[in-house]
Amino acid sequence: MATWWADRLSNLPPYLFAEIDRKKRAARAAGRDIIDFGVGDPDQPTLTFIVDRMAEAIRDPANHPYALGAGMLTFRQAAAEFYARRFSVALDPDREILALVGSKEGLGHLPTAVVNPGETVLVPDPGYPVYTAGALFAGGVPYAMPLREQTGWLPVLADIPRDVRRGARLMYLNYPNNPTAACAPLSFFEEAVAFAREHHLLIAQDAPYSELYYGDRPCSIMQVAGAKEVAVEFHSLSKTFNMTGWRVGFAVGNADALAALARVKNNLDSGVFQAVQHAAVTALRRADGPEVREQVSLYHRRRDALVAGLRGAGWSVTPPPATFFVWAKCPNGLDSMTVASRALDEADVVLIPGAGFGACGEGYVRLALTVSEERIREAAGRLARIRW
Ligand SMILES: *Cc1c(COP(=O)(O)O)cnc(C)c1O
Repeated sequence: MATWWADRLSNLPPYLFAEIDRKKRAARAAGRDIIDFGVGDPDQPTLTFIVDRMAEAIRDPANHPYALGAGMLTFRQAAAEFYARRFSVALDPDREILALVGSKEGLGHLPTAVVNPGETVLVPDPGYPVYTAGALFAGGVPYAMPLREQTGWLPVLADIPRDVRRGARLMYLNYPNNPTAACAPLSFFEEAVAFAREHHLLIAQDAPYSELYYGDRPCSIMQVAGAKEVAVEFHSLSKTFNMTGWRVGFAVGNADALAALARVKNNLDSGVFQAVQHAAVTALRRADGPEVREQVSLYHRRRDALVAGLRGAGWSVTPPPATFFVWAKCPNGLDSMTVASRALDEADVVLIPGAGFGACGEGYVRLALTVSEERIREAAGRLARIRW
């Protein structure tokens, strides 16, 4: 088995979603009525005004060649205007913005651009798996920063040991957070920027959920004075505009780090299809428009239905302030794998076990709000019948 596989692949943790997916497919193939709170992919189509712009752009031959470089100037300008409007942060479209083939691509390639073999990469635990995978592919050494409920799911930077700090080159942060749904206050970003300056490391703050919020608007690390010297921030159109399959995102911030990332990308990919970039410009210009807010209120209603349903089933759960995830404590002190497999076996409900996001995710499960209210109520009823 795996005759042609390089050794570096065996160091990777198993790709969680693939395993859950396989189990789920088997259950579906057996004809069971599965309610899937698993993979975080919007169930609604891409917003219509974006599809319309794409339809027009795809017919223009000027958009058909390779889209080399940092992204079209109009795209980078639209990203800069979004930052100015949304966060009151000024960015230079020529040096401080880089188009990505989806933000996951940039997050995964960043360590290859900025981390030398043997250097430490600080990753949140629980966390999105690409941070660790990207670090390992670059020969970096991931160090898990525990996120815990009692500290608001923020890493306690003071707890990072001295020798780890010394070898650290890069720190990933992700707020609003997947999987815990926590938001970071600006004071935490200030602390992180000061830490990065002191220890000469780069921060990569991943913000694909910045527009999916239900109360206070999440902030950007770029709002911290001096952030551009030590930080880059990643954005995605995937979640905000239901564009996961389109593959478009962007990174902003430190010009030197972005130039390094662009160097890696220029050797590996050939840019984002220009028609997609034109559609993304239209999207970004309406990021605060009624279409996005309507989408968010759909998630808001689902969030309230799911939180009420789980509480009715005896679970302990806090309503998430942002993202489309509910991060729920396992009932009866059970471990997350047991809860996820029993939910699938006994209720035909797919949940993601928290332990799959890292050891500190143990004791929790993640549910994505990508299921209709009606099905949410059905799922809660089924879960309530399980004797945990
Ligand atoms: C969905 C997600 C992304 C990836 O978004 P793409 O732009 O589609 O690659 C990045 N980070 C986190 C935490 C996510 O949940």
